[in-house]
Amino acid sequence: MREIAMPAAAAAILERLEGAGHEAWAVGGCVRDSLLGLVPKDWDLCTSARPEEMERAFSGWQVIPTGLRHGTLTVRLEGQNWEVTTYRTDGTYTDCRHPDGVSFVREVEEDLSRRDFTVNAMAWHPRRGLLDPMGGQADLEKRVLRCVGDPARRFGEDALRILRGVRFAACYRLSPAPETAAAIHGQRELLRRVAPERCCAELRRLLCAPAEGLEPVLREFWDVLTILPGLDCLGEMPGYDQANPHHHLDLRGHTIRAVVSVPAKEALRLAALLHDSGKPACRTVDEEGVAHFYGHAKESARRAEAALRRLRCENALRRRVVELVELHDLWVPPTLPSARRWLGRLGEQGLRDLLALERGDTLAHAPACRPPRLERLDRWEALLERVLEERDCLSLRDLAVNGNDLLALGYPPGPDLGAALGFLLGEVVEGRLENRRDSLLAALEARRSR
Ligand code: ATP
Ligand code: MG
Repeated sequence: MREIAMPAAAAAILERLEGAGHEAWAVGGCVRDSLLGLVPKDWDLCTSARPEEMERAFSGWQVIPTGLRHGTLTVRLEGQNWEVTTYRTDGTYTDCRHPDGVSFVREVEEDLSRRDFTVNAMAWHPRRGLLDPMGGQADLEKRVLRCVGDPARRFGEDALRILRGVRFAACYRLSPAPETAAAIHGQRELLRRVAPERCCAELRRLLCAPAEGLEPVLREFWDVLTILPGLDCLGEMPGYDQANPHHHLDLRGHTIRAVVSVPAKEALRLAALLHDSGKPACRTVDEEGVAHFYGHAKESARRAEAALRRLRCENALRRRVVELVELHDLWVPPTLPSARRWLGRLGEQGLRDLLALERGDTLAHAPACRPPRLERLDRWEALLERVLEERDCLSLRDLAVNGNDLLALGYPPGPDLGAALGFLLGEVVEGRLENRRDSLLAALEARRSR
């Protein structure tokens, strides 16, 4: 078995609890990640101690009573927060979301049996080693994702587990066991009862999975995505024939290729997922039987906006995604003035993201039409580097004169002054004027006397 490197603070917390006569383990994601050779994001600890017993055991330590009613206490140690939770089982579920209540139990095995997947239901202790009654380690080795207990029942208790399952499968390249996979498909409608923001958080993590894990999972569980708030538009994609020589894949196949061909960043992956969602609504067919989708970027942006609002996605991310979707099909020619203009409009990161989306989209097109498009993107990227390196003037802020200079020249405050600055910026961006105070002021004088 792999060595598990537990942080000293976590070990100290276990020691403290056990010194006070209780039992304590590290549990869940940290054990799974350690066995996979990954560095856990956080260490969840669990214990036989009841909340009030925990408080006593930690007296003199800095603790935050995070969720004492549910048995959770946060210990501050070595500048970090450590969550410790009393062994518990969930009561009955009547709403597919929340247990009606939790009850504390004395046996760690009972706590493990309430957990969602076998790979998440292992405990570990520095002296006692691995505790794995559900066979999570064997499943990890076989790379199988398996529910603890009856999958249909477990998804019926908490439907978010369906989406968590899809996410774990993609992030860790696990194949859902047949009964687990069948229940993911069969129970997917239950996701409609889950709070949109919880779905959104899972979707974002799912989409940021490594490409090799994500691609097969998106193919196998596309039907699950179509249940999520606002994502019903994805339901039209499977089998949708783009009937255009630029495309060798159906709309879903193209979308999946685009998603896994952009870097694993939330805005890019979401934009790729939705970039062509408006195509079916924009289809026209010419005399030769070739389909066209004029205006689809705008329609896709509209759908992306609606979907991300329904998912209660935060505003900043929604705006970035919608902007990327709206611009993805513009194919602006790579020239120095347009590089300056678009850098000024989108900022460096925004433009880099747009080019990355266009590249991902291109890689999902028929092989024959890729080379000229990729070459255009290479030229764009070279221009972008050049403009950044030369610190070209990109916006009014970079202009060598400002409003005060113009006021001093006798421009009245108001729209004329704004228009004059806009004129100067345009001339500089287009390369017709140097961004120097004297040449700018001279150009203004000339313009005024015209
Ligand atoms: P990550 O933090 O990478 O998402 P994780 O496994 O640590 O992975 P958490 O959401 O932090 O996931 O949950 C910690 C543990 O709690 C899980 O490993 C699992 O054992 C259990 N768990 C979390 N959510 C559920 C759920 N909805 N149903 C059953 N068990 C759950
Ligand atoms: Mg965790």
